[in-house]
Amino acid sequence: MQKMFPHRLFILLMVVSNFQVSAQTICISPLLPPYFLPIDTNAMLDGTRSGSYKIPFDTIRFNQALGTQAFDVVMVVDGVINNTQIGLADRYVDSLVARLQTIAQYNPRFKYFNFYRIAKLSNEEGAAWGYMGDTTVDNRYGSRFNAFGLPRLILPEKYDTLFADVGEFVPQHDLVLNLCFDKKYGGSGWSLYDGRKVASFTLDEQTGWHLGDEVAIHEMQHIMPFAGHGFLGDEYEDTLACPIYDTLPLQYLTSPNFTGDTLNNRKWEHCMSEPGVGFFPNAGICPGNYRPTTNCAMHQVYDMPPFCPICREHSTAYFDSLFNPVYNVSPTPAVFTGNYTFSVQVDTPSVNTFRYQWLLDDTIVASTTDSFSVDFSLLNHGTNHTLKFVCTDVDPHIIDTNLRRPWITHWNLLTQDSTVGVTTSENEVFEISLNPAKTEIFVQSVFALQTISIVNILGQIVYKKEVGLALSQKIDISFLSKGLYIFTTDSPASKKIVRKFLVF
Ligand SMILES: [Zn+2]
Repeated sequence: MQKMFPHRLFILLMVVSNFQVSAQTICISPLLPPYFLPIDTNAMLDGTRSGSYKIPFDTIRFNQALGTQAFDVVMVVDGVINNTQIGLADRYVDSLVARLQTIAQYNPRFKYFNFYRIAKLSNEEGAAWGYMGDTTVDNRYGSRFNAFGLPRLILPEKYDTLFADVGEFVPQHDLVLNLCFDKKYGGSGWSLYDGRKVASFTLDEQTGWHLGDEVAIHEMQHIMPFAGHGFLGDEYEDTLACPIYDTLPLQYLTSPNFTGDTLNNRKWEHCMSEPGVGFFPNAGICPGNYRPTTNCAMHQVYDMPPFCPICREHSTAYFDSLFNPVYNVSPTPAVFTGNYTFSVQVDTPSVNTFRYQWLLDDTIVASTTDSFSVDFSLLNHGTNHTLKFVCTDVDPHIIDTNLRRPWITHWNLLTQDSTVGVTTSENEVFEISLNPAKTEIFVQSVFALQTISIVNILGQIVYKKEVGLALSQKIDISFLSKGLYIFTTDSPASKKIVRKFLVF
């Protein structure tokens, strides 16, 4: 999530058609080659979902151990006009959730998916046709087919309404999907310059192939930027879509899985020894680009093949960047005498590729264990110390080890001149700077802060402020007397963050 910050800084660089906000990247559902035979294992039945459902918001699955430290996927439904249709849409939600588990890189990590569904009613059913007012459908998020004259390109237009609904229920969302309740085939993975991203798909009942799940999985890969690697691109050519794609500024076409230059820009050089990897023509929608393999889920959705090694590496590393498997972290002890056991709990993937290391003052002192005892009488009290627990995903499919994301929990052991320690866990996703502090603290988070509070050691709230969806906040603390305080975000819907800090 930290990697998302630069995207929030993007400025409006181009205006396309009559969009309220112009597009940063477009990625389009693949062609439907007519020669494919319909072999569908995810067909939908008529009728409503068998279980109970809730409107307008329902939690489909939730990781109890990690809570909102998991990967929070929100699906909105556009173009439903009654509760029966919401029930029907929920069958498609269930189908997608089941289909996601069959994707190789997600199967062992599926426990990290939190899945939510928002279904608010539209005035009219389905999606409109065209962006130039060809037809009008008064649906909630403005979903329309035939954007830019490409029939299967469906886009939501009312981003503000869509993200207001998402923010109302799941402010900590990591990924937003838009299921448009329309039977035509279509999809898009669409990013705005302001960083808001939505992957859209449809019921796809008219083709008879029921590819809604596959389109959704293909499109969600399009809106997963990671570590400056850009978005996974399309690994096919399409003369109809190329004129649209060609309007994008070159700097946004940083897709790791296609290249126009096999001599100087061999993006997947580190994967060349993987089976089937080379340089193959017909990629990136417009002619002249190359793709890593002959087939990939970014190439076709019908009878969806596995993601190629390059796409799998990218999406695995991206996914790792958006959840935190470490929970129940020991607090720092109040005094630094005797023995103290620091411990963490880790929600490991079903194929466990996690490596544990404990580092005292940046020297590895233990591995493979989730607890570590410190005898403070043996520590040098002439200085402070740092203890770290580093959990790293060493999944071999992340071939470039630089893309591995470590989850680091660290404890500052202020043994030198204070009996108060400061715990800074989740330090990759949340920071309080100027700690210990005197006049102000600066908090920065990848999650919406919502309501922030400061509590003194007696448990009294000494500061409280609503900050909306702010990701950072400067707080004047000059009115606080010396001592230990606890900073907390206390909105039940947001990521719960609790941090101690010291005013001196
Ligand atoms: Zn690929």
